[in-house]
Amino acid sequence: MSSVIQLLPDHVANQIAAGEVVQRPASVVKELLENAVDAKATQIKLVVKDAGKSLIQVIDNGVGMGVTDARLCFERHATSKIRHAEDLFAIHTKGFRGEALASIAAIAHVELKTKQEGEELGTHIIIEGTKVNSQDPAVVPKGTSFSVKNLFYNIPARRNFLKSETVEFRHIVDEFQRVVLAHPAIQFSLIHNGSELYNLTSSNLRQRIVGVFSGKTNEKLVPISEETELVTVQGFVSKPEYAKKSRGEQFFFVNDRFIKSGYLHHAVMAAYEGLLKDGLQPSYFIYLNVPPNSIDINIHPTKTEIKFDDEHALYAILRSTVKHSLGMFNVAPVLDFER
Ligand code: ADP
Ligand code: MG
Repeated sequence: MSSVIQLLPDHVANQIAAGEVVQRPASVVKELLENAVDAKATQIKLVVKDAGKSLIQVIDNGVGMGVTDARLCFERHATSKIRHAEDLFAIHTKGFRGEALASIAAIAHVELKTKQEGEELGTHIIIEGTKVNSQDPAVVPKGTSFSVKNLFYNIPARRNFLKSETVEFRHIVDEFQRVVLAHPAIQFSLIHNGSELYNLTSSNLRQRIVGVFSGKTNEKLVPISEETELVTVQGFVSKPEYAKKSRGEQFFFVNDRFIKSGYLHHAVMAAYEGLLKDGLQPSYFIYLNVPPNSIDINIHPTKTEIKFDDEHALYAILRSTVKHSLGMFNVAPVLDFER
């Protein structure tokens, strides 16, 4: 009898996982920005070169890491965010899988500088070829900086499949916008090839939306607000006369996480029934807060699709909330008033 099954070495397992977690430069941006948010940063800076092909760097002023954690964070399934299986039903952080950094370090060169509050020296680690190349104490500011270089250097197929710089950078901006809209109180900046494209100060939600999409957005926004046992709904929808031919700016956030949902989009469209010319699309920025145990975030690696316990009730609440607000702001025929 011969045995043929072997456990894969860590670096091979990490490279396989990376295929799912890191599709393109924008995926790295998302993971690093979310880690900075989870680290309670109040200032986060994203620096990108050549649409992420040469450099993606995220600098935060969050809690930082001690020397042991600075090393451990690159291990697979290494996370400070959950401990027990039950914790999966009470997620309050963006991350929880402990896979992102291990995956990124398997397919790129990574440099980490980090320091905790009150420490004199921080830690500087360089990972190349999936191995720790150097680790030294270093004079660095409080917080964390991750630099990711030469993405997909060891997966030529992925590198070759990257789209043009314009397309890849568009994906990066999309991820950036999703994170900054979810966290208006945090200060964010984005620098691409040396020029600053965004510098967003700490603000309320309306100011943040305007900061991201230009001053003209302000007059288009109608606030929405509703609170039930199941869900709190906040945010803005656009007045129907500002609907666009192209898909507008359409964002759902659930517990401060950007998500995609064709079903909830349909609920919003239903609220606009009779108010839009054929084929036109409204913009919306809708923030749902639900009890963490009423959703499952763990159904997709990028966590942009989630499962709700009571999707039908949510649909009905969202539709009537949006419809009510459109009516209140005199943009719907009077007959459309439901309450
Ligand atoms: P996850 O976010 O799912 O926990 P990651 O691989 O993204 O997994 O990160 C692993 C761990 O590294 C985190 O749980 C956290 O403890 C630490 N970490 C990552 N980024 C930062 C950061 N910017 N500041 C402080 N700690 C960080
Ligand atoms: Mg993470």
